[in-house]
Amino acid sequence: MVDFQAIRDQFPILNQQIHGHPLVYLDSAATSQKPQTVIDAESEFYRTINAGVHRGAHELAALSTEAFEQARAKVAALVGANAAEGEEEIVVTAGATAGLNLLATAIGNASLGRGGDAAKRFALKPGDEIVVSKAEHHSVLLPFQELAARTGATFKWFDLDDEGRVRSDTADEVITERTKVVAITHVGNTTGAITDIAPIIRRAHEVGAIFILDACQSVPHLAVNFHALDVDFAAWSAHKMYGPTGVGFLYGKRELLEALPPANFGGSMVELAWMDQPAQYMAPPARFEAGTQPVAQVVAAGVAADWMRSVGMENIEAHEKTIAAELLKLGDIDGVRILGPRENVNRIGTVAFDVQGVHPHDVGQFIDAQGIAIRVGHHCAQPVHRHFGLFASNRASSGVYNSVQDAQVLVEAVGKVRAFFR
Ligand code: PLP
Repeated sequence: MVDFQAIRDQFPILNQQIHGHPLVYLDSAATSQKPQTVIDAESEFYRTINAGVHRGAHELAALSTEAFEQARAKVAALVGANAAEGEEEIVVTAGATAGLNLLATAIGNASLGRGGDAAKRFALKPGDEIVVSKAEHHSVLLPFQELAARTGATFKWFDLDDEGRVRSDTADEVITERTKVVAITHVGNTTGAITDIAPIIRRAHEVGAIFILDACQSVPHLAVNFHALDVDFAAWSAHKMYGPTGVGFLYGKRELLEALPPANFGGSMVELAWMDQPAQYMAPPARFEAGTQPVAQVVAAGVAADWMRSVGMENIEAHEKTIAAELLKLGDIDGVRILGPRENVNRIGTVAFDVQGVHPHDVGQFIDAQGIAIRVGHHCAQPVHRHFGLFASNRASSGVYNSVQDAQVLVEAVGKVRAFFR
């Protein structure tokens, strides 16, 4: 049995009053809070071994490089990726958005003929198709929409069902022989729905397309193994998985990372650079990690990955399911509509809701006055809101530190909203 109260106690930020009430933090889909061990790891790095990685000949540089590479291995272990030297499948990025843009830019570069014969498998031309879904966060929607505009590829998408789930059952029609890239969210950041990605991946691979997973909202909450899922690439952020801001990771199958041309150029990614000849780039992951890396944050993200594994992803998943069950009671309140699956099946504890006749910003303020933090707005996912006939909503989202009581406090507060604004 995991002692979840003891886990909560590891998060110092939660132990405070907001507007005279104990803080109830239900905004983990935006960013998670950090356990003390992660906070300590970052400052410990600066106190003891701070140095640039892969550069200096001195002892601190060797120690920081070792810590950086160990962190990569810890993150790889969390998601079932390879980490042995020469086989690394985890690229350090500045976050999910940066990882997805890296991919879109690299595919665009391949489409311009960069990267030689190996990169031709990524090249797009007019008539080819890029497929996303209406459930995407803007950080999937926009880079791939731009990529389509730059290459002349056709931009297509999966529709959603009434509960906002991606219509995976239409994979055979949406993905065609012309489809080259499919990019889909693993868990909707508004609906909390877990996408049934297996049929989409199967179909994508059947037509030779690459499959990119937005794993931002799955890695923090579910036991995820990218090899078992057979995804080609996946991007996510450390700050949503109990790690620091400013870093994220891009998983890629090794053979694909080796074939992909670089997207960013600069120091630490090149074997040979000349004035009058093209540069010779390093093997992955260095090829995709131009410039000085956020080493302290990566090291702390590695500590976060280990911490999650020590709690146990199955335990985290099961615990958050109990919170989701409580949050779904929001749907029983008169005038409150849940934007996402009502049943506590194939979903996480992210529950967006609309309060009839009350603007989400008013709801958010009313809730905040009671010390409860939720997100209001369109959550960077406008098409999914349009799907529900709205522009904005309220969203409560759980983390491992939440208790069932946190969810009850929110449900009780939301129950009073309409009477207050009448
Ligand atoms: N994808 C999803 C599903 C998200 O929820 C988010 C963050 O809200 C992102 C992508 C972008 O993550 P970041 O802003 O950390 O780059």
